[in-house]
Order: sequence, then structure tokens, then C-alpha cells
Amino acid sequence: MVAGDQSARVLTRQHFTLSCVVPALDEERGIQAFLHALHQTVASLTPTVELVVINDGSRDRTREQVLAMQLPIRYLELSRNFGKEFAIQAGLDVARGDCVLVIDADFQHPLELIPAMIDRWRSGVDVVYGVRRARDSEPRWRRAATKFFYWLMRENRSFDIPADAGDFRLMDARAVKALKLLPERNRYMKGLYAWVGFRAEPMEFDCVGRPDRSGSRFNATKLFELAMTGLTAFSKRPLRLLAMAGFFVSGIAMLYGGFIVAECLLFGQAIPGFTTLAAAIFFLSGLQLVAFGVLGEYIGRIYEEVKQRPLYVTALDIDRTSMRDVAAREAQTAPVVGAFVATS
Ligand code: UDP
Ligand code: MG
Repeated sequence: MVAGDQSARVLTRQHFTLSCVVPALDEERGIQAFLHALHQTVASLTPTVELVVINDGSRDRTREQVLAMQLPIRYLELSRNFGKEFAIQAGLDVARGDCVLVIDADFQHPLELIPAMIDRWRSGVDVVYGVRRARDSEPRWRRAATKFFYWLMRENRSFDIPADAGDFRLMDARAVKALKLLPERNRYMKGLYAWVGFRAEPMEFDCVGRPDRSGSRFNATKLFELAMTGLTAFSKRPLRLLAMAGFFVSGIAMLYGGFIVAECLLFGQAIPGFTTLAAAIFFLSGLQLVAFGVLGEYIGRIYEEVKQRPLYVTALDIDRTSMRDVAAREAQTAPVVGAFVATS
């Protein structure tokens, strides 16, 4: 695309191409119905669409189900399960549309919202992100944990990571291009979306259950891992809290030490105090272990980063869209950070 051409498109956003990035892990049951519905929705908005399906190491028949369909599909298969963040990245790396929609394959992100999202994008908003309406059904402890997590994350004031925003979003090609430039392995998409900036607006939606009732692909371990990734990638607040705890405890220890010495000098008491001693030792060694753990978490992330491994490995790449020719002309879609080992 020539520069003049691009700025004209940015301004008018009239005739546009759309890529839909759909990460899929073990979705054989619902993926066909979903892709049909998605295609029906977006085909009425623009004639040039590609459905980028990323099979994130499914162990079921997701591949067969997707490839059996007669739709403009770009099918990527990762060589194993890399996780949703990387599957989405793989999709963004190959997406060629003027705008890119990221959406779950399980109908939990309402398709009815897409036309409104496109409208907003056409009116000049670069990123339209879905925000889940209040989650009243969640247990209180979970809401409290979520709140604490976002508080820990809110260290950097120059950009805000919106709570309750997920991966359901429509992005302008420029935002996608910016995302491709971020090389980190410690990948927390929600944070990266916020980091790249651009004019972004929320759009509320209600999250419904999966129609196939199969439940989330995220278990507690995966969720915890994701939370740690987010924290370590976007906030130094945990480290700072530990340092503060250290100062606080030393302060108290000093005061108490002075008190004991004074007591001994004034009243000449032999100090029994085993309980105090034991409690102090347990408390301090506990605090030290926590500190080591948190430090280790950050150092581990640095280790992951310096290894410079590619973000994901593509095992299969099948292009059944009409965007191939457009891409050849524009020649700007080479993945920046992903590794492609096989194409067809
Ligand atoms: N997913 C993925 N890789 C994973 C986990 C999930 O590609 O390791 C996909 C999954 O197929 C679905 C989307 O990410 O399309 C969201 O997953 P899920 O519905 O299980 O998560 P939740 O609704 O709990 O956020
Ligand atoms: Mg889901």
C-alpha cells in the first residue's frame, strides 16, 4: 500500500478489508457453527474478509472441522499448545486486514456487537475493546482478588490497563503493526494492547456461558500463570512492597531491641522471651522466603527473555482467502517475531 493510499483509507475507512483472529484449543464441538455465524455477520459488512483460525495445539479434531469448511479461512496450526496469548499473536502476525477483530471461538463474545464496533472504527476510533458487564455471579473473594491484582498492576500511570477488558476487540491495522513490534516472550496481551496506545474506546457486553457447556480452557494454574505474567511484565510494585515491608519490619525490630536493652539496663532482668524470639524468627524467615520467591519470579522472566526464543512455532499454514494477492502487493505482513517452519 502506498503512503498516500493508506492515509486516505485511514481518513475515510470506506472500502476496507477485515481479518478475524480466532484462537482455538479443543473446539471441535462448536467451531464450525461459530465460524459460520461469524462469517455471516462480517460478510454483510465488507466483501473482503479473512477468518484467521489459530489451532493452538488442539488434541481433538479441530483441524479437520476447520479445514472441511468452504469459507475464506487462513488456518494456522501451532506445533503445540503455546497458550492463548501466543495464539493471538500468531494470528495478528499474519492478519492482513485494514482492521482486525480478535474473538473467542466459543460464542462468549457476542457477534451482534461487531457491526457497532466496525461503525466506531469507521468513525475514527482505532481500537474498540469489549468490556464485560459487572460479574455479579462471581464469588466475593474472586472479585476482591481481581481488584487487588489490578491495584498491584496499576503502577504505571502513563497508560491504564482497563479491568474487565479482554481479548474481544477490533483494532486498526496500525495498532496491530505496533503490537507486532513488541518482542517480549513474557506476553500479557491486555497490557500490550494498552501499552501501544491509539484512540481506544470500550464497549460493554454481557458474557454468556459456552453453548457447548464444555467450560473454560483455562484452569487455575493457567490463570495464575497469566496473572504472574501480567504482574511481572507491567509492574514493579510487588518488589517495592517487599522493600517497604523490609523497612517496616526492621523499624519495629529496632524499636523493640531498644526497649529490651533499656529494660535490661534499668531493671537488670534476665530475658526469658523465647516466644518472642521464635515468633520473630518465623516471621522474618517467612518474609525472606516470600521475598526470594518474588525476586525469583522476576529473574525467571528475565531468563525467559534473554533466551530469545521465538514466540511460537507454526506447523501448518493454509491460506484459502482472497487476500493473498492483496498481501503480495503490500508485502508488509512478514511476521516480526514468530517463527515459521512450514508453509503450504
Ligand atoms: N484458547 C487457546 N489456547 C489456550 C486456551 C484457550 O487458543 O491455551 C482459546 C479457546 O479455544 C477460546 C479462547 O481461547 O477460543 C478463550 O478460551 P476459553 O473460552 O476457554 O476461556 P474463557 O472463556 O474462560 O476466558
Ligand atoms: Mg470462553
